[in-house]
Amino acid sequence: MKRLVLVAVVLAASFAVASPALGAGFSPESMTYPLDGENRITDSFGDCRGSGCSRSHEGVDIMAAKGIPVLAAGDGVVTWISDAPSNCCYVGIDHGDGWMTRYIHLNDDVEDASGNFVPGTDGEGWGIAEGIVEGSVVTAGQLIGWVGDSGNAAEGVPHLHFELRRDGVAQDPYQYLLHALAVWSGTFSDDDASVHQDNIEKIFARGITVGCNPPANDRFCPDRNITRGEMAAFIARALPLGATSGTPGYGDVDGHLFEVAVDKLQTAGIAFGCNPPDNDSFCPDRPLTRDEMAELLVRAFGYENPEATDFFTDDTGNPFEESINKLAAAGITVGCNPPDNDRYCADRQLTRAEMATFFVRSLDL
Ligand SMILES: [Zn+2]
Repeated sequence: MKRLVLVAVVLAASFAVASPALGAGFSPESMTYPLDGENRITDSFGDCRGSGCSRSHEGVDIMAAKGIPVLAAGDGVVTWISDAPSNCCYVGIDHGDGWMTRYIHLNDDVEDASGNFVPGTDGEGWGIAEGIVEGSVVTAGQLIGWVGDSGNAAEGVPHLHFELRRDGVAQDPYQYLLHALAVWSGTFSDDDASVHQDNIEKIFARGITVGCNPPANDRFCPDRNITRGEMAAFIARALPLGATSGTPGYGDVDGHLFEVAVDKLQTAGIAFGCNPPDNDSFCPDRPLTRDEMAELLVRAFGYENPEATDFFTDDTGNPFEESINKLAAAGITVGCNPPDNDRYCADRQLTRAEMATFFVRSLDL
């Protein structure tokens, strides 16, 4: 089935070649996002590469599964390509006016009958779309290949190494990619009308959310209240929390979808129980309240309230009042009654979309 879909796309792509559109004017601000499928951008331009930092990373790595379609970021001509089995697979597109984008580590493994890529078949598979050769004229968004682990990524995880060059000099494409992702409405089908859509795309790009309907995960459920368990998962993905105790101290997360996330948060001292004073339950399916959000974000990201300002009139005596004030001092939240904003509404619940925006502010995305 998957193969049939790919063939159909390839056919469409070869017809697109018949109407060249070079010269429309490439601008990285308006480039097309180069992947069509679940992926995560890493802010990795300029990172050390090679032994002893012998070279600098001249692109951005976008993590994605093998076989995810790779698209041309703009109109142009393919001027740099290798699909030789010995050196597979990469593509470079000249967009004119000195601009070039490069797509490296395209797939080179064989796909078996059930659609799995066979390990150890490096150099024998396909990674570049049919009809894409040196001199091909391509249009923005056209399929040019598929994500893989070819070249020096063979020992690592599959990803697209994406480069943006001007007059041969590598430029940092990270912010352009975030912008391209924000204007692309493809990730989730149900958030196009949400004022939080850009922020949902940003946290998706950081791997903080995967969607609300696994395994398809093509919806975000922006208007649904976020649960304590989902919040734990967001934080566990946002922070480099690897450690788990293996013995969650909460009686109600055993076997839960978010057991590992809650365990990571507890091990890191971020989690807190939902039934004081015992606090031996986490209530992963209970909607998160605004005061709990404040406490979790402060524990996760470490905000301070240096002037000890008391921002709100309605949170006196709330066990999380200190964190509420820290969150306000950091500018992450304002009150719940604009324009006065002198109340916090600690008991109010939050939608998943609102939480996306709080994460974008918390992480300064
Ligand atoms: Zn790379």
